[in-house]
Amino acid sequence: MSASGEQAADCLFCGIVSGSVPSQTVDSDERTVAFMDINPATRGHALVVPRAHSRDLTDIAPEDLEATILAAQRLANRMREVLSPAGFNILNSTGEAAWQTVFHFHLHVVPRYPDDPLKLPWIPGSGEEAEIAAVAVRLRGRRG
Ligand code: 5GP
Ligand code: ZN
Repeated sequence: MSASGEQAADCLFCGIVSGSVPSQTVDSDERTVAFMDINPATRGHALVVPRAHSRDLTDIAPEDLEATILAAQRLANRMREVLSPAGFNILNSTGEAAWQTVFHFHLHVVPRYPDDPLKLPWIPGSGEEAEIAAVAVRLRGRRG
């Protein structure tokens, strides 16, 4: 696939990449485009997408994934200068069950502020050691 990538006909973010859907674009390079999220979780919340259409983390080409995370780092550094946040969350949702609503791979770059309303989406608790180890055995597979 070329660096400019292939577009999917009825994909919202392909429309933003091509310019047929308006957006507040803040950065772009050969492989990626960054634009403001239309429903920001915090002030400055933006999205970084590869120009080439892929659905999610499981099918994005490695070179697009690399370019997208590097663009997210560049954007976070720019936000640090301009918005002075206290930190960042970089979020990807892969699959409907994981809250994905737009099926063109994207990274959320969410600047964090001490008084923002975001909450950790899970309750930390002690895990079952045996179950953790059993899953680890399965995940290692033949490489274990
Ligand atoms: P997801 O839920 O798939 O992780 O993230 C999709 C994000 O896209 C959401 O945060 C949502 O606010 C944002 N979004 C949905 N439609 C549009 C749009 O038309 N323009 C922009 N800029 N963002 C959008
Ligand atoms: Zn797309």
